[in-house]
Amino acid sequence: MKRISLFTPLLALIAGLCASASLRAADGPATNKVPATAEGIVKEIKDHEVALAKAIDAKKPALAVQGAARIGVLVSALPDKLKSLSTDKLTGLKDRVKVTAALADQIGKSSATNDWSGALAGSGKLQSALKDLQTLYAPAAPAVQYTCAMHPEILRTSPGACPICGMVLMEKEKE
Ligand SMILES: [Zn+2]
Repeated sequence: MKRISLFTPLLALIAGLCASASLRAADGPATNKVPATAEGIVKEIKDHEVALAKAIDAKKPALAVQGAARIGVLVSALPDKLKSLSTDKLTGLKDRVKVTAALADQIGKSSATNDWSGALAGSGKLQSALKDLQTLYAPAAPAVQYTCAMHPEILRTSPGACPICGMVLMEKEKE
């Protein structure tokens, strides 16, 4: 009987170790390494964003602290990968990176102290900060154009009527 009561926590421990090992594996072999391109960094940030939200939801301090720290590292590495940006944009980017990294840091601190409402609020702010950050350098989506079926030379940036024939302008297919 004694053996069984010892066996169960042991199993739980092994299961726990396996779970944390697979989580670490998802981070890649070298956790401190940063992807070579901004795209790679953004992709990894998105993965960690999801993992962080889950960790906060499940109230797992260690995971949340780790995820927040990793996002901070990744975000701080972004400006170096985007040196081709105009000086204006790069300055704006660096400012936002600072704000974002500070948010990640705050989430880590909240999680470490089990302040889950603080962590959750921070996570919401972090998500919009990251979105904001991306709009700074992501190539702008081609604007939708409207044209007339009969007069393709008519191009407008908003819907309306064709100035020649009065037909309703249609969204132009992106080429
Ligand atoms: Zn027309």
